[in-house]
Amino acid sequence: TDIVAFKNVIKRYPGGKIALDGVSLHLERGEMAFLTGHSGAGKSTLMKLIGLIERPTRGQVVINGTNLAAVKRRQIPRYRQRLGLIFQNYNLLFDRTVFDNVALPLVIRGLGHADIARRVRAALDTVGLLSLERKFPITLSGGEQQRVGIARAVVDRPYLLLADEPTGNLDPALSADIMRLFMRLNEAGTSIMIATHAIDLVERMGHRRIRLDHGHLENG
Ligand code: ADP
Ligand code: ADP
Repeated sequence: TDIVAFKNVIKRYPGGKIALDGVSLHLERGEMAFLTGHSGAGKSTLMKLIGLIERPTRGQVVINGTNLAAVKRRQIPRYRQRLGLIFQNYNLLFDRTVFDNVALPLVIRGLGHADIARRVRAALDTVGLLSLERKFPITLSGGEQQRVGIARAVVDRPYLLLADEPTGNLDPALSADIMRLFMRLNEAGTSIMIATHAIDLVERMGHRRIRLDHGHLENG
């Protein structure tokens, strides 16, 4: 079954720019795929439609059996709860510690304190930030902030993880760590879509590659 299904999706931004021009796409449950294409090809837009950060102009987007056209504005936070979203601005809360940023999805879900602490530390450990749990994001480097965002996205075991250039600020060793983390999550059942410029990395990973070119999907 499909976890992601796009049917003839068109996205035109205000001002007339067509970012996606008739995209039909399927990602199967449990699949891990890379989304590639030049800057401006429409990668972020495609992910934003899945995360309901943007709405399509035409066409249909169905995620995990839910037609997103039926998700009303006030239902969006709940819809996003079991998605892992890693976008380029990491959307960290700068008045909260690293620990509290990562804990947020679990707090919202109402988990107990001990359970939260255990899971947050496990997530911070996987991204190599355990020692920074009491720091505030403003005191961290770009790569560290990025990893806080990744830890928060994976802490509640999303069924679908979307990552837009997740290794953009990271050195090769850290990038490889993050890719291994994604592979482990994928093996544990999470479906994953990763947008990236890093073609060499994609080729080494040997996963499916979805190519966008000026808003059009290329076969593959
Ligand atoms: P990519 O992620 O592949 O670089 P994007 O999805 O960010 O591509 O952008 C696709 C096209 O849509 C680009 O031409 C970009 O300038 C345009 N675009 C993206 N976001 C907006 C927006 N909020 N308003 C207007 N145009 C946008
Ligand atoms: P306990 O619940 O037994 O106090 P935890 O393992 O939950 O122990 O927490 C140990 C430490 O982790 C706390 O003293 C605190 O520094 C930090 N910590 C735990 N929860 C939070 C939180 N929500 N925000 C910030 N730090 C926390």
